[in-house]
Amino acid sequence: MKKKIRREFVLVALLSILLTAVSMTVVFYELFKKEVMNELESYTRVLQSAGVFDTAAAGAADGLSDWDVRISLIAADGTVLYDNDVEVGGLDNHRGRPEVSEAIEEGSGQSIRRSDTLDRSAFYYAVLQEDGTVLRVAKASSSIWRIFRSALPIVAFTGIVIFLLCMLLAARATRSLMAPIDSLAEHLDECDDASVYDEMVPFVRTIRRQHEDIMKNARMRQDFTANVSHELKTPLTSISGYAELIEHHMAAEQDIPRFAGEIHHSATRLLNMINDIIKLSELDAMTPEQAQMERLPLHLLAQNSVDMLQISAGKHQVMLGLAGEAAYINGNKEMVEELLYNLCDNAIRYNNPDGNVTVMVKPLGGKVMLEVADTGIGIPAEHQQRVFERFYRVDKSRSKATGGTGLGLAIVKHIVAQHGAQLELESEPGKGTTITILFENADKSVIL
Ligand code: ADP
Repeated sequence: MKKKIRREFVLVALLSILLTAVSMTVVFYELFKKEVMNELESYTRVLQSAGVFDTAAAGAADGLSDWDVRISLIAADGTVLYDNDVEVGGLDNHRGRPEVSEAIEEGSGQSIRRSDTLDRSAFYYAVLQEDGTVLRVAKASSSIWRIFRSALPIVAFTGIVIFLLCMLLAARATRSLMAPIDSLAEHLDECDDASVYDEMVPFVRTIRRQHEDIMKNARMRQDFTANVSHELKTPLTSISGYAELIEHHMAAEQDIPRFAGEIHHSATRLLNMINDIIKLSELDAMTPEQAQMERLPLHLLAQNSVDMLQISAGKHQVMLGLAGEAAYINGNKEMVEELLYNLCDNAIRYNNPDGNVTVMVKPLGGKVMLEVADTGIGIPAEHQQRVFERFYRVDKSRSKATGGTGLGLAIVKHIVAQHGAQLELESEPGKGTTITILFENADKSVIL
């Protein structure tokens, strides 16, 4: 990139030097031409008004041979009558010369002809006199090439100076372009908007955001792995302990069913946890486009979940009911069933005897509202944001005692995100918890 910038700088500089030199030469030459022609015209007018050449006998003009202009008198038929520079006898007919024929036709004429050498050009000015003869004055002057050539050393000198200046500027420009990028590459964390130029700010923000996301994800994954290992260890230790006791006949005969029960309970916990971990990693890996969405009757699915959980509700002496009306969402059936199950299951498990759980489904504006409200133990305000984190539990022992894995709400949050829905939690300790989810209505166009 640095090389490219430098190359382009130099190219632009060289091109502009060349263009300036050429255009200046042309402009200058045009001016110069005009000057020479004006001069020749003045000469001619002076000579004419002096009346030196108004007769064919031009012998009186002999003293003009050392003038730096060439003066010729040409008869109307083109015969050269007088020339102060060349022997008249050796000259051919001048009728065909552009300046002569132009003067005969229009009163005056001019032309420029290149001499034998490239360096000089001959400038001619001719006027038609009253007696029909043509008076012509000519002068040899620098050609455009000569002017250009004489300008060349200056052009070359300026060129070199500008070239060096360009290299210097290019180096400075690339340095100031690259410096923030280099420092960004080295210290991504320390880079803020003030340390880069304006044009780079959006780029830096995106990079920083992505970097932060990557770091956050890495940290989360690390935490998750540590948490998983820790969570799996407890039931496995208990399984291993009880099995060892039985293996070495250290358990009394009557304790064996209880130990087997503990082993069973821990194994179930392990299975539940592994199932939830698998669900989470599937949800992590899936993009919303990959999830197979279909039109789902949310009220009906809620009814199924409520039916399925009636036994569990009965065990906890909780009344579980469904309210609302039919509403349709675009969703993934498996995920929505999982979400309903997790929310209802929590509402039952964190409830009090004789408590209530009400599931409500209804269209609301352009959306469909799912609300799971319980009259349970509630969640203290300081925990409300965190309960959606993996393995975050408010009351660990109650969670474990009721078969919780600490992953239920993390799964809910993921599913909500996959559906582009909104999630809200309202809770008051001792009074209960209400979780509300707003889905896009599959029949939005009908309702609106
Ligand atoms: P768990 O498997 O432990 O229930 P969740 O992710 O489902 O894990 O919930 C996380 C924590 O949030 C629970 O441990 C519990 O402390 C709290 N919680 C979830 N739902 C409720 C609720 N309806 N009422 C009170 N506390 C709840």
